[in-house]
Amino acid sequence: MKVRVDELPDVGRVIHFHKAEAWLASLTENDREITLAKPVEVDLELIPEADSIKLKGHLRGALQLVCSRCLQEFVLDLDETIDLTLLRHPSADAPYEIDLRPEDLDTEFFDGVTIDVDLIVAEQIFLALPQRPLCKTDCAGICSGCGADLNRETCRCEKIDRISAFDALRSVKIEH
Ligand SMILES: [Zn+2]
Ligand SMILES: [Zn+2]
Repeated sequence: MKVRVDELPDVGRVIHFHKAEAWLASLTENDREITLAKPVEVDLELIPEADSIKLKGHLRGALQLVCSRCLQEFVLDLDETIDLTLLRHPSADAPYEIDLRPEDLDTEFFDGVTIDVDLIVAEQIFLALPQRPLCKTDCAGICSGCGADLNRETCRCEKIDRISAFDALRSVKIEH
């Protein structure tokens, strides 16, 4: 969805829309594969001010992720506040710029004439993405010795050690 800045009423405009699961995949590059577990619901208010446009709202949805410890798939609920300001810029070529930290800077979604609301929502989802996804904060992960999923199974390492020790003992006896 694109919104023309010059068509915004003075009191602002509230938009509500949703994006289907497949939508985000069409925007992401191969190195940032993100799967939506359900459609994203967006409520957004666009308020023109003297020297800026404020974007305030909410997005709700869920991401399908893989836990970085136990490698199991899990669903992470998204409930993100959107609070952005597009600042008026002195240059005629780019009359507005987005007020974000430099590392977040992404002006693709605003050319000074139209605001690409879809890309803003996508950017907010990327920012909400955890660096190291965890299915739960105390995920026990996978045992590096026996490969057991320690959230659901007990580690078999000790048992394996005991069996091999017994085997070693028995082989010693046989040799006698
Ligand atoms: Zn996990
Ligand atoms: Zn183990």
